Amino acid sequence: MFTISVARLKKAPAEQRRHHLAAKIASLPGADGEPIPVVSPVELVLTVTNAGDFLWAVGEVKAAARFACSRCLQEFTQNLQGRFEEKYRLRGEVVVEEGEEIPVAADELNFTDHVIESLILSLPMKPLCAEDCLGLCPNCGRDLNVEKCTCPEESGDPRFRVLAGFFEQPKGGGSGGSTKT
Ligand SMILES: [Zn+2]
Ligand SMILES: [Zn+2]
Repeated sequence: MFTISVARLKKAPAEQRRHHLAAKIASLPGADGEPIPVVSPVELVLTVTNAGDFLWAVGEVKAAARFACSRCLQEFTQNLQGRFEEKYRLRGEVVVEEGEEIPVAADELNFTDHVIESLILSLPMKPLCAEDCLGLCPNCGRDLNVEKCTCPEESGDPRFRVLAGFFEQPKGGGSGGSTKT
């Protein structure tokens, strides 16, 4: 998908090429195994430099993906931005530098794995439709961004609410609620 030819650049020391590439990627693997749909073409701006002994590639990646808000569960679109750098030897054999293998540059370089990996690294840990999303009422489940409910307000801090629920839980249980077999 994201493949370029560097056959000529390999013979041109100190020269630089810039490539604009775009391709479709259906989805990215989310942390919980759920696929995250990609809703725009994935764009790559790739700058490759012949640095004498090495080819030096820097990629800037952009795509828009669809998430479910971790507070209110509504779907929303968020732009992702990834970046990667990769080095290829122009002569000799594969060498290992600081624990990383530096491959020899072929005439064609494929950056698809780099593009996908950089996007996965850019995924939000906790997707939020808005920084100040009010989420769902823990009591009645209403979306508080849409309407206020009449449930009695507990502690204002949602973290305490979660804790309160945690301590209430082991009602009918015996001892040691946290041990699993
Ligand atoms: Zn939300
Ligand atoms: Zn409520």
